[in-house]
Amino acid sequence: MRKKIVAGNWKMNTLPAEGVELTKGVVAGRGEVCKCVDFIVCPPFTHLSTVAEALKGSDIALGAQNCAAEEKGAYTGEVAASMIAALGCKYVILGHSERRQYYGETSATLNKKMVQAYANNLTPIYCVGENLEEREAGKHFDVVKAQIEEVVYNLTAEQFKNLVIAYEPVWAIGTGKTATAEQAQEIHAYIRKVLASKFGAAADECAILYGGSCKPSNAAEIFAKEDVDGGLIGGAALKAEDFLAIGKGFEK
Ligand code: PEP
Repeated sequence: MRKKIVAGNWKMNTLPAEGVELTKGVVAGRGEVCKCVDFIVCPPFTHLSTVAEALKGSDIALGAQNCAAEEKGAYTGEVAASMIAALGCKYVILGHSERRQYYGETSATLNKKMVQAYANNLTPIYCVGENLEEREAGKHFDVVKAQIEEVVYNLTAEQFKNLVIAYEPVWAIGTGKTATAEQAQEIHAYIRKVLASKFGAAADECAILYGGSCKPSNAAEIFAKEDVDGGLIGGAALKAEDFLAIGKGFEK
């Protein structure tokens, strides 16, 4: 049985105290959602320790939105994987399209970040997805295939067992446009096939999340698809009620 996961990517939103309030809201309502759903919150670096504190006693995991490609040293402004792990992170989002697009993250950088994540026992949530131009040109399959081959194929079989993939079509992120459940299923099944051609049956165990304007009103339909194992949630993760309601999408 694959894990069902709902992960919140807060991006550069909330002040530290607001982040704690949001976390408290999620913790308070968590009991209303099936235990079969794993929740993860990924606040900004500056909130990790206070959010970790607010999560104590709950089964909600903590993740970071990024980590450095290097282990430590003279890298001003960077945050090492060991630092986020020491603050209680179990997950780290890597390769989000905003990082690829605005900060020039390439597969070469992401390979280094993967090494750091695994060296610190973090589970990467590795994001893939095409932009609108690529989708319209029918290149979406090739784009995600390359993003997987260039990074995920470098993992060992052991590392692959600890990986979450997030398929996030760039045209659906923060735009209010969502991929249809059929579009999501089509590409999730394809991603699983690409994973299987390298890792065999282990690909059946890999959680593949959908991300891109996922909200309470569309989560159930998308999560009902066979190869969709949950969601990476941006905007709707900033309201405890909505974030939890997305988790309830598995029950419908
Ligand atoms: C994201 O950036 O990971 C995301 C899915 O954002 P949104 O839900 O706001 O589209």
